[in-house]
Amino acid sequence: MLNLLNLSEAASRLQRREISARDILQACLDQMRKVEPRLHAFLSCDEPEALAQADAADARLAAGERGPLLGVPVALKDVIAVKGQRLSCGSKILEHFVAPYDATVTEKLRAAGAVVFGRVNMDEFAMGSSTENSAFGPSRNPWDPERIPGGSSGGSAVAVAADECLAALGSDTGGSIRQPAALCGCVGLKPTYGRVSRYGLVAYASSLDQIGPFTKTVRDAATMLGVISGHDPRDSTSVPQPVPDYTAALTHGIRGLKLGLPREYLAAGGLDPQIKTAVDTAVAKLRELGAELVEISLPHTDYALATYYIIATAEASANLARFDGIRYGLRVDGKDPVELYQNTRGRGFGDEVKRRIILGTYVLSSGYYDAYYLRAQRVRTLIRQDFLKAFETVDAIVTPTTPTAAFKVGEKMADPLQMYLSDIFTLSCNLAGICGISIPCGFTQSPKLPIGLQLLGKPFGEESLLRIAHAYEQATEWHQAKPPLD
Ligand code: GLN
Repeated sequence: MLNLLNLSEAASRLQRREISARDILQACLDQMRKVEPRLHAFLSCDEPEALAQADAADARLAAGERGPLLGVPVALKDVIAVKGQRLSCGSKILEHFVAPYDATVTEKLRAAGAVVFGRVNMDEFAMGSSTENSAFGPSRNPWDPERIPGGSSGGSAVAVAADECLAALGSDTGGSIRQPAALCGCVGLKPTYGRVSRYGLVAYASSLDQIGPFTKTVRDAATMLGVISGHDPRDSTSVPQPVPDYTAALTHGIRGLKLGLPREYLAAGGLDPQIKTAVDTAVAKLRELGAELVEISLPHTDYALATYYIIATAEASANLARFDGIRYGLRVDGKDPVELYQNTRGRGFGDEVKRRIILGTYVLSSGYYDAYYLRAQRVRTLIRQDFLKAFETVDAIVTPTTPTAAFKVGEKMADPLQMYLSDIFTLSCNLAGICGISIPCGFTQSPKLPIGLQLLGKPFGEESLLRIAHAYEQATEWHQAKPPLD
């Protein structure tokens, strides 16, 4: 049952040499064999290659090397490049594409000795909130396989929540780490824009995308963040800011911190009363732990969804232009180049991706650019200012992560707007470029489904977020609950 360990437990047992990296990987592979037919978190997994990495980690341990990730299996969302492995982005257009190099985060994980194993499922090109937009079929929620795990990094959340790996990486453009973490009952962290290099991450919306960890505990999120963060000359948007020791911040407690409750989020129309109750109870717990809670206002919240879907689709339409049948992946021939583009893109992209490319091309077209794209950029600035103003008086902001718990497979597929609304509480964080974390804070009654608490922090304020999240986690038991998989 070594797959049940969290990162810090695994690291200390590996370092005492009580267990080997191969033992842990083997336990993860056994768990995959048991649950994958039901959950479908993984798109692929090269077992011999993973075992070779585990053996290499064991050799490093035997030689006396130590490190918090040395020998632990970490799964990667299929949008992050791992040299020599498939990089499908959940799309037919890249189904057979093999990454020619490692992403910076992959390099960093390898240097730390993590066993980079398996490619996990996602909505096609990270567009979606349920993994149902994956060209290779949806993943399933381990708490109820009739339900979606959230998205777009659904496979990452499932793999961690179902103990098929010890931690995972995902990407978050509008909520794709925090929302599936909330719906599957694990920890998901979206770092500040610029904290983690995006080199080797296939771009969806470049001004919003960030890579971040899925873990079983807040301490593990701090460990992962410390390893993957830092300036990278190959990503001009990564910031040359020193990387603090994120785990050192966890001991300080939260007495005296001031936390903001945004009135616009708690009064939101579609908020399930069970989620509201769980968040109210979490807020009471934070107060009991010594934090001061104050009501705040983020007045431009209502515009976030529209602003996001203009900016994200505009950037996506430009980024996805590179999949033309000539340079990457699928090629479906035609009588001339235009027909080749049409055939390839028509056949290679799924419906949601096409919808976004069409919308994004429209909002960027001459005549509409000022009315939509430029205006959205201005509103984005107002949204960022709302947050920066709030952070003049509070250390962090507390909200629900999602308006509802996991919904049924198929429930929202016919209505894109309903699907988009599942990210209503997470999108603003990306528009503002700040950091956010989701941690387990309870369950709905029947069926029993996880609920997430979201904490939003200042730019480069990950230490405070982790500190608050850790204090809450230590005072509650939600993170210890396991989905019924036997
Ligand atoms: N669900 C949002 C979208 O479809 C967010 C996705 C993400 O964060 N990658 O765009």
